[in-house]
Amino acid sequence: MTVSKEQHPASKLVYRRQNAWDCLGEKEMAGLMAFAGDYKKFLNAAKTEREVIYEALRLLKSIGFRQLDGTVKLKPGDRIYTVNRNKALIAAVIGKEPLEYGLNIIGAHVDSPRLDLKPLPIFEDENMVFFKTHYYGGIKKYQWLAVPLALHGIIVKANGDSVQVSIGERPGDPVFTIPDLLPHLAKDQMEKKMADAVPGENLNILVGGIPLLGSELKERFKLAILEHLNREYAVVEEDLISAELELVPAWPAVDIGLDRSFVGGYGQDDRVCVYTALRALADISGPERPALVLLADKEEIGSSGNTGMEAVFFANTVREITARCVSNYSELTVRRVLANSRALSADVNVGLDPNYGDVTEKTNTARLGAGVVLTKYTGSKGKNASNDAHAEVVAQVRRFFNDAGVIWQTGELGKVDQGGGGTIAHLLADHGMDVLDCGVALLGMHSPFEVASKVDIFMAYKGYKAFFLR
Ligand SMILES: [Zn+2]
Repeated sequence: MTVSKEQHPASKLVYRRQNAWDCLGEKEMAGLMAFAGDYKKFLNAAKTEREVIYEALRLLKSIGFRQLDGTVKLKPGDRIYTVNRNKALIAAVIGKEPLEYGLNIIGAHVDSPRLDLKPLPIFEDENMVFFKTHYYGGIKKYQWLAVPLALHGIIVKANGDSVQVSIGERPGDPVFTIPDLLPHLAKDQMEKKMADAVPGENLNILVGGIPLLGSELKERFKLAILEHLNREYAVVEEDLISAELELVPAWPAVDIGLDRSFVGGYGQDDRVCVYTALRALADISGPERPALVLLADKEEIGSSGNTGMEAVFFANTVREITARCVSNYSELTVRRVLANSRALSADVNVGLDPNYGDVTEKTNTARLGAGVVLTKYTGSKGKNASNDAHAEVVAQVRRFFNDAGVIWQTGELGKVDQGGGGTIAHLLADHGMDVLDCGVALLGMHSPFEVASKVDIFMAYKGYKAFFLR
């Protein structure tokens, strides 16, 4: 008689990617659905990097986090935050262990691909008014045509006064769009490569079509829009030069599927990691090691600028925290704190999409529903510019997650020669600390409507919490 595959002792030797849904109790299932509901609300309120920081602050303040600036000394259990130009944030819970032993850090990014208005965006053509845009981050341009877009952002006047703008989110609000070419006349366009089919300079947003009535003035359609902006926001065209106005999808985050297993929405890269990391930090008390959440801006354009991960904000904040925790502050102490820290670079990875199975290598690609993803290395074509976490680091996080019942899986961003991507992992590692990429698998990453599994979102939260408590 042959022994079935399941019964043979050798079957225990095989790694099997678990399905996280199989591993939930009834109580956890209810908790998970409620968590996903809160997450959708967060996505809807936080569609730009500034709005993410604002929502993060709201959450942190509501549970007793205090501004770091206002403190002199910090003791175990203290909860603090600091914000950099409304676009980057660090929040921490001080631990029981001396700071020199290192911090437990989770770093995510708050920016997402979008269409930014150009400094002088307004032009009129054929009795219509458009805004010119310059896209931000890696987008497939055709995905932004023929969809409703909302306009979010800030206009700063020369005197320093600022005006908040949010159009297209409330019921009854107008939205904006980039009309697509009708298929009847798209013969030439359809023969182009997808990358060339929509030139970046054609991503012009339709914003108006009623002229300044009773006037013979030149550009009276544009003038009517300027009059509208002046009436609503008290701004003139020059003010738009010092504005950050971003077009994002106007739709809300929603459940996907008959069984509501997925969340669909804009900006889940990387707000899924932002939200789960913040909630993990909010829900821990009395950690042994200090726990720190770092929210960086500009990851999608190379982490540059003073709110990006390449800037000194992170290291300077660790200096500020160290100065308030140790009696013998020195630059060497700070360097020890940083080098002895461990970090999860919390960013999304690709989930295997059976419709595009040939760009990923099946064995090593994450699956939706199989838990939070540990990504040893990112990069492209030979792990270029990747952090490539040490085996010891991957083993440690595996252990943390296994001990806490976190369902996790391994992931890789695409076939070896297919392409790739990066995260902030290597920039954290520059400080000497051990870093591992760890986040949620998505379908349709960088599209206006990304898809994540609710159980993976929950496992990211559970995993980040487990990490903080070690
Ligand atoms: Zn990302």
